[in-house]
Amino acid sequence: MSRFDQFFSDLAKKLKASEIRELLKWVRGKNVISFGGGFPSPELYPVKELAEIAKRIIEEKKHVALQYTLTEGLPELRSALKEFMERKDGIKVESEDNILITSGSQQALDIIGRLFINPGDAVIMELPTYLAAINAFNLQSPRYYGVPIDYEGIIVEKLEELLTKLKSEGVKPKFLYTVPTAQNPTGITMTMERRKRLLELAEEYDFLIIEDNPYGYILFENMEIKHLKALDKSERVIYLSTFSKVLVPGLRLGWVIADKEIISKMALLKQSLDLCSSTITQFIAYEAIVSGLVDKQIKILPGFYKKKRDAMLNALEKYMPDGVEWTKPIGGMFVFLYAPEQIDTHKMLFKAIDRGVAYVPGKNFYIDGSGHNTMRLNFSYPSLDDIDRGIKILADLLREEIEKTKA
Ligand SMILES: *Cc1c(COP(=O)(O)O)cnc(C)c1O
Repeated sequence: MSRFDQFFSDLAKKLKASEIRELLKWVRGKNVISFGGGFPSPELYPVKELAEIAKRIIEEKKHVALQYTLTEGLPELRSALKEFMERKDGIKVESEDNILITSGSQQALDIIGRLFINPGDAVIMELPTYLAAINAFNLQSPRYYGVPIDYEGIIVEKLEELLTKLKSEGVKPKFLYTVPTAQNPTGITMTMERRKRLLELAEEYDFLIIEDNPYGYILFENMEIKHLKALDKSERVIYLSTFSKVLVPGLRLGWVIADKEIISKMALLKQSLDLCSSTITQFIAYEAIVSGLVDKQIKILPGFYKKKRDAMLNALEKYMPDGVEWTKPIGGMFVFLYAPEQIDTHKMLFKAIDRGVAYVPGKNFYIDGSGHNTMRLNFSYPSLDDIDRGIKILADLLREEIEKTKA
């Protein structure tokens, strides 16, 4: 009880600090190898280039760059993104009016939650899915329905089963949220076949799809991936991306591609949230695109992260005991590990930290309370040496825990 409780709203009372987040915060700076973070690697931040751009913009464009801009976003940046999306993502954007600049993808998730969810509305989520999306939607009190994913992405047969069942009960889901490419937390990428089927089902059962794509520029294999938005023929997909993983998260800039009507509604709401996203960082992002800096990053990032992914997959292969499985991501920053059923990764975390290694218990990413035996392992942040040492520690601990439950 606090003396402010009487003043707080019901919404405020719903907000709780995550135990794990607090724990991982505490771990930072200690002598612990952390696979727990979700941070890009700062070694890859183009510091010199960004400093030069920022200085130039503030000096030369002060009258615009230090001023408010349009809620929808800096016009130059929207135009640059239109061209960029066509060139890099194969997404044909009809006009700038189909683009909204947001203060990170997180703001887009918040806006989407508010614009589409009434309390109790049906929302479909992957099992597991991105924690910050769960948290953003939670504020609107949706009723979640989970659909499991396997190594090929969302299991469309299970989705169809769910949709049929919901229909028979007279329940119409508002949207399905998915991270189809190098997913957070699993690193799994949805196959082309499943993408097509998902879109067919969205047509048939008439729901929207939120495609969250922060990792599309960090792919390790030379494979062509078609975004859901690129396959979308009826403006059913609301596409989210961000500068956080390809440039730096500190710009706090993301963008949305969607039907004009949806974009204008989103802009109306955004006006109340922050008037506009930071003008300075929008100019920086604009310059980063037109100067070729973003293209350069897209060339460097995959090779760098691939080395780290390989180090993690090799270490897992070398050290993990029988009965433990994990995903083989073709992009992004995470491997997801499945321990035998009898292991509780939440309980085990304290022992792991004691021995010098941290991770995120997978349960946090499941809206249905399952996933007690899973964990998310980040490979973008730790060094190659730490990845090997950390996975060995984790494997030894898992082996002991498995032996214990056998005895
Ligand atoms: C990192 C990440 C984001 C990025 O969020 P920002 O607010 O743009 O920094 C969005 N979605 C997923 C799934 C992510 O992993």
